[in-house]
Amino acid sequence: MSVIPHLINGELVTENGRAVDVFNPSTGQAIHKLPLATRETIQSAIDAAKAAFPAWRNTPPAKRAQVMFRFKQLLEQNEARISQLISEEHGKTLEDATGELKRGIENVEFACAAPEILKGEYSRNVGPNIDAWSDFQPLGVVAGITPFNFPAMVPLWMYPLAIVCGNCFILKPSERDPSSTLLIAQLLLEAGLPKGVLSVVHGDKTAVDALIEAPEVKALSFVGSTPIAEYIYSEGTKRGKRVQALGGAKNHAVLMPDADLDNAVSALMGAAYGSCGERCMAISVAVCVGDQVADALVAKLVPQIKALKIGAGTSCGLDMGPLVTGQARDKVSGYVEDGVAAGATLVVDGRGLTVAGHEEGFFLGGCLFDNVTPEMRIYKEEIFGPVLCVVRVNSLEEAMQLINDHEYGNGTCIFTRDGEAARLFCDEIEVGMVGVNVPLPVPVAYHSFGGWKRSLFGDLHAYGPDGVRFYTRRKAITQRWPQRASHEASQFAFPSL
Ligand code: NAD
Repeated sequence: MSVIPHLINGELVTENGRAVDVFNPSTGQAIHKLPLATRETIQSAIDAAKAAFPAWRNTPPAKRAQVMFRFKQLLEQNEARISQLISEEHGKTLEDATGELKRGIENVEFACAAPEILKGEYSRNVGPNIDAWSDFQPLGVVAGITPFNFPAMVPLWMYPLAIVCGNCFILKPSERDPSSTLLIAQLLLEAGLPKGVLSVVHGDKTAVDALIEAPEVKALSFVGSTPIAEYIYSEGTKRGKRVQALGGAKNHAVLMPDADLDNAVSALMGAAYGSCGERCMAISVAVCVGDQVADALVAKLVPQIKALKIGAGTSCGLDMGPLVTGQARDKVSGYVEDGVAAGATLVVDGRGLTVAGHEEGFFLGGCLFDNVTPEMRIYKEEIFGPVLCVVRVNSLEEAMQLINDHEYGNGTCIFTRDGEAARLFCDEIEVGMVGVNVPLPVPVAYHSFGGWKRSLFGDLHAYGPDGVRFYTRRKAITQRWPQRASHEASQFAFPSL
């Protein structure tokens, strides 16, 4: 079994000590050992970042952008290799892995616009002989902690932008599927990034706590589950750090009686079961307005769920791979059991699925519940697996009330042909990302990504314009160059025009 190294100060570093296994979820076999960083290892990455910062912050933005242009080319050239690594350790299908990488590359493209993004604002003659401007300056050393479900895309939400803004970055990726994340970081160094500007350190709570507690780390970006997001936000902000912590989700799709049902069903199949439901924007609740819509929806979904092509993610032409770990599979199965015990109707039961040739893989077939009600755990909690719950309501208002009362507010969508209903939904729904006939409204890289309520702790969303704000701080400069021979008398009143 190979050992996956850290990447610190441009070097691949291994360490003895605590380690965990990385699995191939399709075979159920451990394939790599992953060291868990000690506090000393984290400190060495921080020291390298601190040392690299002065030169990097003074590197012209256009030069920093040139590194990103080369990085984008390398990512595209290595698309197949990266997708294979994602699929091998996460379990998602190759097509899905490539899709995630492409969405990650969008963020590199956005970062290529650094000279434009960092232009700042300038006002001439704000007073006699006085000009003023505001500058976007980097924060220094910043860190990111990322989840298993997008090992390529979520880190790419963070460090290309942080780095192009002049910061040095320490990434602590998920311990479940770190190989693609590491390879991508190596490609950025190959693209010409000076050593120390980006380090990748593997680890668990010890590593994360070391990053939170280090005074040199000025900001933390986190994406993962809500309890950890809340912990990192409160511990980080307590220490005066800037923190954006994106958490879990329960995303509802509302189906109106006038929806184009066939298209809505196609969209729901991908949004609920794609990536085995392990997406923070996955649709996990279908809210049907009226029994007629619910009955028709369930009737159309059942055969399609039963026909899902499930197998090893690295095989071609599949709809769904396994869940990421045996523990994740058992947790999701536990929710299915819980839903049955609570009285929901289990219309399709995916438990007990085995895939020929991959009997030890962490597979679970698609599951569908009908007659789910708001007090059930399967409705309230994030399941993060291939389980769709149908909730029946009588009106759009009731559907919206249900969504607004939920603790999470990441994504949602409405399927309708009625512009008035869609507009009301967009205006009044308390969710950060909204789709109209679009099931996974993940914003493109030049907008920003973020949920509301307990799906995000902090003020600024991830990437795009909010990302620039997050990774820079404003400096307002007011400058006077008096004309020669003029004499300015002392002014004791507050300066004004
Ligand atoms: P997770 O919270 O278990 O882990 C995320 C990161 O936190 C990992 O790097 C992990 O090593 C670290 N971590 C875990 N336990 C920790 C602890 N006690 N202290 C400090 N750090 C700790 O999440 P996951 O299982 O990897 O990912 C799935 C979750 O992420 C889901 O809840 C999903 O909704 C969420 N997610 C949210 C978004 C979003 O944009 N809102 C995007 C992707 C995933």
